[in-house]
Amino acid sequence: MSEASQQQEGNSSNRRPTCHSCDLDMDEAILSIRYPKGTLPVRGFICPKCGYEVISFEDAKAASETAERLGLLEPEGAITRKITRSGDQLAVYIPKDIEREFDLKQGAKVRIYAKRDEIILAPV
Ligand SMILES: [Zn+2]
Repeated sequence: MSEASQQQEGNSSNRRPTCHSCDLDMDEAILSIRYPKGTLPVRGFICPKCGYEVISFEDAKAASETAERLGLLEPEGAITRKITRSGDQLAVYIPKDIEREFDLKQGAKVRIYAKRDEIILAPV
């Protein structure tokens, strides 16, 4: 398994890369990349001695585009909701499953904050 952070290595997809630890040519292989909601096969290279895996930037980028198209990038259990309006403010209804899981009640307090490109809602 190759983590997303290890995929920056490798260069043009036709040249066999060399393992930095073993100084050996790496073998072409079908590797898999794990995403939050599934795994995708991807062409890459593996060191015959230490098993170090490398995926070219182009192949990793193509795989992540496929993962996005297939909805594999969404966090597990994520639900799409429409923003509604309550008076002059925007509102989002909390799904019943989450209401039960966190034992939320009307009037209970939550913290809401932005984190990178997400909006996080946390029970207090
Ligand atoms: Zn190696």
